[in-house]
Amino acid sequence: MDLRTVKVDELPLVGPQYAKKLEKLGIYNLWDLMHHVPFRFLDFSKSSAIYNLQIGETATIKGTVTSFVNQYTKKGKPMQIVTIADDTGKVNAIWFNQIYLARTFKKGTKVAIAGELNFMGRNKAIVAPEYEILNEEGNQIHTGGLIPIYSETAGISSKWLRRRIHDVWEKYENDLQEFLPQNVLEKYNLIDFKIAVANVHFPKSLEEFEKGKNRLAFNELLSLHSVNMARKKEWEENKIKKVLKINKNEINKFIKNLPFKLTTSQQTVIDEILDDLQKNIPMNRLLEGDVGSGKTVVAAIGIYATYLNKRKSVLMAPTQILANQHFNTLKSLFKNTEIKVGLWTGSEKTAEEFDVLIGTHALLNAKNKMRSVSFIVIDEQHKFGVKQREKLNNKSTSTKVAHILTMTATPIPRTVALTFFGDLSLSVLNELPKGRQKIVTWVVPKNKRGSGFKWIKTQIKNENIQAFVVCPLIDESENLIEVSKARPFGIKAANKEYEYLQKMFPDLRIGLLHGRMKNREKDEAINDFKAGKINILVATPVVEVGIDIPNATIMVIEAADRFGLASLHQLRGRVGRGQLKSYCLLMSENESEKSGIRLNAMTKTSSGFELAELDLALRGPGEIYGNKQSGIPELKIADWNNLQMIKDAREVAELTQSRL
Ligand code: ADP
Ligand code: MG
Repeated sequence: MDLRTVKVDELPLVGPQYAKKLEKLGIYNLWDLMHHVPFRFLDFSKSSAIYNLQIGETATIKGTVTSFVNQYTKKGKPMQIVTIADDTGKVNAIWFNQIYLARTFKKGTKVAIAGELNFMGRNKAIVAPEYEILNEEGNQIHTGGLIPIYSETAGISSKWLRRRIHDVWEKYENDLQEFLPQNVLEKYNLIDFKIAVANVHFPKSLEEFEKGKNRLAFNELLSLHSVNMARKKEWEENKIKKVLKINKNEINKFIKNLPFKLTTSQQTVIDEILDDLQKNIPMNRLLEGDVGSGKTVVAAIGIYATYLNKRKSVLMAPTQILANQHFNTLKSLFKNTEIKVGLWTGSEKTAEEFDVLIGTHALLNAKNKMRSVSFIVIDEQHKFGVKQREKLNNKSTSTKVAHILTMTATPIPRTVALTFFGDLSLSVLNELPKGRQKIVTWVVPKNKRGSGFKWIKTQIKNENIQAFVVCPLIDESENLIEVSKARPFGIKAANKEYEYLQKMFPDLRIGLLHGRMKNREKDEAINDFKAGKINILVATPVVEVGIDIPNATIMVIEAADRFGLASLHQLRGRVGRGQLKSYCLLMSENESEKSGIRLNAMTKTSSGFELAELDLALRGPGEIYGNKQSGIPELKIADWNNLQMIKDAREVAELTQSRL
């Protein structure tokens, strides 16, 4: 029997109420329950003599109950005091509100308890320890050696979980049959499934536990793959009736006339996309490319190929600013063609008829626009929720089947992308166009801020360039920001900084751009900046994605320690877009070592992928990809950090596909 098919509420003592609570822990069925891995253990295998107990120390003791007293606290709360003695002394264990314990702790009973010894008023006691009655035979699931502590939720304790897991083990042991072939287990150094479950929940040693956990982590990744494979299969059932023809000749002519030569990697990716476009299965492809790697032109060529079939495309961007920019870019790229480029955003709807329509999310609701579209490009996908993506997919499948190209600059390691986005095909742009200069990056401590800004002013005056100043907040009163939960060190707010810079540089023109401004005001700020009417643009991270202004060569990031490396990299990528030498100043008042290491990494490497990996090592998996918006949730057992296992699991999933 597949334990995935048995819901938890089918277990004795687990009704719908407990099932609801278990859902909070991500546990729906018995398979999930057996994959609920403890995060630590109490060690009952080594017990201490009561005489040796120290205040504040967590220890296990074994002894005999010498008394059980039921008392009331000053506030009238029932309190149970159990006295336990061994050859060396006596100690009290205390519980509250558990009168029924009288039945358990009868005088003369041999027990083990584990917990921390502390002062209760003037007396010493262990409060609410883990406990178990010791008898010669039978399983000691709560005190027999290593006692698992699980992540809990209101109404679900580790003790409760141990009991349920133990029951399931007893009843369903034989359903925990190995499902991977022996040679696979050997090749990937995995232990048997059933043994792994036992090792995880009832380990004899931590080593044993780790081996078991390793196997269950592998299972978790395999499950992810099988979900993705199923999704992919379902996707591939969509069939395009009138397939596109790829007019290689015309496309090559178009490429030849571009203002630049494509990079090898752009050429490869374009071939992959064109190949997909002529199939009768709709494309579902993720294009990953570092900031500035030139994804837009790749999309443009797909759009052109579609147009040559007299069919329509849509390009969706996460912000209006970016939609406007794409609109201008595409108009310019297509200026020698007949392509009609339309714009459809919250405030602007220029398109009655179009060959390619550029827009924001607003397009999702423009059903009549989406209906006749053959090619959909979603730019900067990490800003789109998974839900929105699904909505889009449904919309296109329910109307007419469309090819979908999703683009992201989030530096997800290829291995992770192949697993998490395993239902998508993957293309990677792994080089930047030639001639790009490295962006000189400095970390600027508090005492150098003044001279830093003076230098910027000189640059603006002498070189006639422009600068961005990015602040993590709009107003100072905001205390919550998305980029980091770190302690605030000299956080800067855009509104304040704007006033400050206006005072400091009365002869420079300072602009302001943040998410709470009206769309019209935002457009105006961006357009003024583009036109060179503004010298310094103070902004919140709204500029993070995609803005392309070649004359802006200085990026100042305030409170840089508050951002993830991936975000810093994205922000830095806003400069260094033209041929001019560019600079990034990371302002930070945080003098901690960790912050130092992170920010210094920015000065050394310009690869988004390297930075992502470093962030992973320094900040932990929860924050790998800069922020929650990467859309990649944490795994329960496995670790996105463990690229080797992720790779292995993928190999095995493909090998054993039919069996999963
Ligand atoms: P991103 O991948 O970040 O979306 P863009 O598509 O905005 O990057 O491209 C960044 C800049 O590089 C644009 O100004 C674009 O015109 C330019 N560009 C794109 N491809 C090339 C190339 N092969 N050679 C030179 N410049 C290029
Ligand atoms: Mg882009």
